[in-house]
Amino acid sequence: MTAAVEGTRPGRVEVHGVHKAFGTLEVLRGVDLVVEPGTVTVVLGPSGSGKSTLLRSINHLEKVDRGFVALDGELVGYHRKPHRGTERLHELPEKDLLRQRTRFGFVFQSFNLFPHLTALENVVEAPVSAQGRRRSEVEAEARELLGRVGLADRAGAYPRQLSGGQQQRVAIARALAMRPAVLLFDEPTSALDPELVGEVLGVIEDLARDGTTMVVVTHEIGFARRAADRVVFMDAGRVVEAGPPEQVLDHPTHERTRAFLAKVL
Ligand code: ADP
Ligand code: MG
Repeated sequence: MTAAVEGTRPGRVEVHGVHKAFGTLEVLRGVDLVVEPGTVTVVLGPSGSGKSTLLRSINHLEKVDRGFVALDGELVGYHRKPHRGTERLHELPEKDLLRQRTRFGFVFQSFNLFPHLTALENVVEAPVSAQGRRRSEVEAEARELLGRVGLADRAGAYPRQLSGGQQQRVAIARALAMRPAVLLFDEPTSALDPELVGEVLGVIEDLARDGTTMVVVTHEIGFARRAADRVVFMDAGRVVEAGPPEQVLDHPTHERTRAFLAKVL
């Protein structure tokens, strides 16, 4: 178990031709995206354009209708089985899916900490219960991670005793404790009071500098400028424009991107 955890690679995400509908509502209409290991991809786009669905599809919280997602060349959620001289896709058994999913860390808008556990216990919980690691070892690592997000002195605090910004930083430490290959952030600062946004973005920027592979859905354009290697603009279920931040943010070629940026800047 431990060996598998330690063997985690940096993580290359490939999203290929992904379609997803809810009933008749086509939410993703052919999304292609490659995230190289060690890079930060910021996803921008109006509300309802499919950003959350895309993130959720990446770690198979949503099952896509067409196309596929791969992590380091391995299909997410499926495995190939020989069938009459060709191959067929089979869904991964639950156990394998859960193990695969731990290679992604997910940080949500609403921090989702366990209210009855301290900051430290929140960070320790999953590596012990889901990865079967030794509590003593995980605890030492969790303290280090809390230090890394600037909360070394709040390890014993319960979520209700922490500000929103502190809670979100605990949530980030908790995601890191699983030693994921890729971190996915869905509007990590949208639920925060404005004065708390900076401390959370600062932590994410530190991770970016350390070469953590990340996909960040956010409306924080300044953050995108500072931290992103690539900015992806989504509209109506498609990637409309993608490139380095200076290109997409300062010289957008699509009318949709221009209209969106005019609103958020
Ligand atoms: P974004 O994150 O860009 O705001 P979402 O991916 O959350 O967009 O949603 C895209 C569209 O899909 C929205 O119209 C939303 O209402 C719809 N949607 C998302 N999840 C579901 C679901 N589980 N069932 C039905 N509709 C959904
Ligand atoms: Mg969303």
